[in-house]
Amino acid sequence: MQVISTATEYDAIYQQWQDQEVALVPTMGALHEGHLALIRLARQVADVVVVSIFVNPLQFGPQEDLSHYPRPLEQDLALCRELGVDAVFTPSVAVLYPEGMDNVTTVVPPVSLTERFCGEFRPGHFTGVATVVLKLFNLLRPQVAVFGEKDAQQLMVIRQMVRDLHLPVRVLPHPTIREASGLALSSRNRYLETEAERRAALSLSAILNRVRLSARQAVQAGQPPLNAETTLGEISREVLAEQSGPGVTIRLQYLAAVDKDTFEPIHTLGANAKVLAAAYVNDVRLIDNMDVE
Ligand code: AMP
Repeated sequence: MQVISTATEYDAIYQQWQDQEVALVPTMGALHEGHLALIRLARQVADVVVVSIFVNPLQFGPQEDLSHYPRPLEQDLALCRELGVDAVFTPSVAVLYPEGMDNVTTVVPPVSLTERFCGEFRPGHFTGVATVVLKLFNLLRPQVAVFGEKDAQQLMVIRQMVRDLHLPVRVLPHPTIREASGLALSSRNRYLETEAERRAALSLSAILNRVRLSARQAVQAGQPPLNAETTLGEISREVLAEQSGPGVTIRLQYLAAVDKDTFEPIHTLGANAKVLAAAYVNDVRLIDNMDVE
């Protein structure tokens, strides 16, 4: 496995791959089973697998966890090696932003996709994401790129960027990988320190699961689809009351139903609904989402 950090080093190995299909898995490192599942999918669909590990400062807000973000590089490289990754690209900030980040050209996704949910609470986040992903596509020239459905709004933004800018990359989604408890795997889960915090973190998947179950039961019973607002309100109150405990505060940032194809908010929990959630468990921000069908 080659570990490289500059475009010149990459160009040299890219040439050797000739006509082989290259799949890219972009990550910020601190790899877990969710990332590994994406890498395995890349391995199945392409001849050559490249994993990028870059904690992109442009997608972090001033109050966010950029400086604390976990960076266990040696462990990440060992995992990539085990999975037969061909190359890991770990550029420095100076390689990706040689002129700094203040005056850099950026990719601004359409407001209709970023004005709500994570985009509302993380201004500039998706511009940072789209910009770095386009840089990685241009530098690494993959034919396929794998992204997780865990970051549903991010996946929408990338897909739209690929369409709008005619990028010659096939975007391949991978379903969310969860712990047996239901908790969606995330590099940020390692910030959950106490048992009470870990228990509280289960609220997100518990809410989404219960919403999905109720919505499906209504359809199976031949009733009209449930009203999204009342169902989400009732179920979240129920779950948050159950999962709260001493020493832990759970604060829902958003909980909403959208059409899974357009990401437009919807008012009933029909077959096309996707439910999105973000919450703070003490000061750890977690996100999750689930399709009703
Ligand atoms: P990150 O390192 O958090 O930027 O994530 C890198 C990629 O892994 C993104 O495409 C994420 O959507 C994906 N990912 C992160 N967590 C999961 C998970 N639990 N299941 C599936 N994909 C995930």
